[in-house]
Amino acid sequence: MLYRLRNDFQLSVISLLGIFAILGITPFAIWRFLVGDTLIGVIDTTILLSIIFAVAYAWRTGQNDHVGFFLAAVPCTMGGIAVATLVGEAGLFWLYPALICSYFMTRPWIATTLALTALVFLVIEGSAFNSSTQQWSFVTTVAVVSICAYVFARRNEDQRVTLQQLALIDPLTDTKNRRAMDAALEQALGDRDRQTGDYALALVDLDHFKAVNDQHGHSVGDRILVEFSSLLTSNTRRSDQVFRFGGEEFVLLLSGVTEQTLTAAVDHLQQAVRRSLKSPSGDVTASFGVTLLRPSDSPQSVLERADRALYQAKKEGRDRIVIEGHA
Ligand code: GH3
Ligand code: MG
Ligand code: MG
Repeated sequence: MLYRLRNDFQLSVISLLGIFAILGITPFAIWRFLVGDTLIGVIDTTILLSIIFAVAYAWRTGQNDHVGFFLAAVPCTMGGIAVATLVGEAGLFWLYPALICSYFMTRPWIATTLALTALVFLVIEGSAFNSSTQQWSFVTTVAVVSICAYVFARRNEDQRVTLQQLALIDPLTDTKNRRAMDAALEQALGDRDRQTGDYALALVDLDHFKAVNDQHGHSVGDRILVEFSSLLTSNTRRSDQVFRFGGEEFVLLLSGVTEQTLTAAVDHLQQAVRRSLKSPSGDVTASFGVTLLRPSDSPQSVLERADRALYQAKKEGRDRIVIEGHA
């Protein structure tokens, strides 16, 4: 549970807002019933129950986007409008936290659309306001709060995307890095347990790459690494994933393979490398260590098998494919 809260930002925001909404609204709901405002008490209770239901649904299904939209649209916006219309001034105050919460739970443009809808509805309906001064003060302050929240939410979103890029993408080759591979491999092993198809992992290492660097310099080596990674990407299917494992070693995670299609796919890659990858002094080749994922595998055991196969390919003379378990 703590792991999910720490690693799933959207779920943690939904949960936190859920807890604060429950703590903030419950006393008012009880008080409304005590003083005989049954209608408002029922609306408060409905808002509370919809928040509790939505937070529980997010925890069960992981559908944070849908739940975030539901929370922003139903309890925050529609609930806020209902309370403001029925209670008047005191209800209007609730719209500020409700609108701000929307920006944390759904896309900034959706939150803005919801805020505008609430404003237009309340102004046209009119009964929430005591005077036109109060109405226009409310419109102006909600607009200011919404613009600030929009700018903040957009920056937050951009930074989250940038951080994700920095954490998961190798800057030289623009392929996913080892951290991304760890996650993809865990996921593939989880899928494999559910019998949704076979995966294979190939460890691919350039041959005598140190000599290329020594003879032609690091920048030529870098250019070859970039070409190699784009060869790997363009000669595999969209569903296959390419990762830079480190240095001049790459990992391919191939999905939906059989032993036959796996051999054909890796042969095709080897031909593409042989055909296209060149240094100023001639061909650059690669060695492949390949293995199918097994139900009993851990990420470590898969990588160890692929590494042993790669070692064998190197030992047998390089520029070759060794598929573990194949004679
Ligand atoms: P083998 O056929 O046994 O794999 O020999 P090798 O020379 O490829 O292997 P070795 O592990 O001895 O050398 C790997 C080289 O890859 C050493 C290092 O200079 C080079 N290398 C690793 N990362 C980079 C990089 O980001 N850029 C460049 N240009 N070279 C790199
Ligand atoms: Mg090498
Ligand atoms: Mg190496």
